[in-house]
Amino acid sequence: MTDWGVMFDLSVTFADLSDDEIIFLEKHGVNIDELINAKSLGALYKRILREGNAYLAINTSPCKKYGHKIRNRHGHCVQCNTAYFSHRKRKNVQGYLYMAYSKIKKIYKVGACEEIANREKSLNKQKYGCADDWEILFNVRLDACYTVENLIHNELIENRISGFRLSGSYEDARELYSFNDIDEATEVILEILSKLGFI
Ligand SMILES: [Zn+2]
Repeated sequence: MTDWGVMFDLSVTFADLSDDEIIFLEKHGVNIDELINAKSLGALYKRILREGNAYLAINTSPCKKYGHKIRNRHGHCVQCNTAYFSHRKRKNVQGYLYMAYSKIKKIYKVGACEEIANREKSLNKQKYGCADDWEILFNVRLDACYTVENLIHNELIENRISGFRLSGSYEDARELYSFNDIDEATEVILEILSKLGFI
C-alpha cells in the first residue's frame, strides 16, 4: 500500500477546521484522527480514503449547494446528507460512553467515542458548548457505544439544554444537559445504563 502520508501532508489540526465543522464532526462522533486534509490532493483523496487510511476528507472542493468541504470516500458531501453516518452509527462500534462536566458553565455532556484517552483534551480544545474546562467524570466501555448513546439521549429529554449557544451558532445541543449536581448526574446515567442492561 502506498504511504500517502510521506508524499502529502494529510495531517489535520483543529486550526484546519471551522467552528461549524468542528461542531458537525463532534455531533456525528468523528474524531480528528479519522480525517485527512485534501488541500493538495485533488480527487486523490477518494482513493486514499478507499484504501482505509481515514474516514473523511476535509478541505475538499466545495459542494455545489452550500460550499461545504467535508466529503467521504465516494466524494459525497456528508454535511448535505447526514444519512451517510447512519450506517456507521448502526454498526456495533466498540467504544466508550462518557459523561463530562464543565464546572464553570455548570453543564454536562453525555457522549460516545471510540478513543477516550484524548477526549477531555479535544472537548476543551473545541470549546464544546463554549466551555474549556471539561472534565470527564466517568466512562463505560461498550460494544455498541453509539447505539447506547442514542438510547441515553432519548431518556434524558427532560434534562436537555435547548438552544444553547455554541461557538457563535445555535446548534441542537443534543449532548448537553443540566442536573442539580454531579452525584445526581452520575446516578441518572448509571441507572439508565443498568435499566437498559448495559452494566
Ligand atoms: Zn454540502
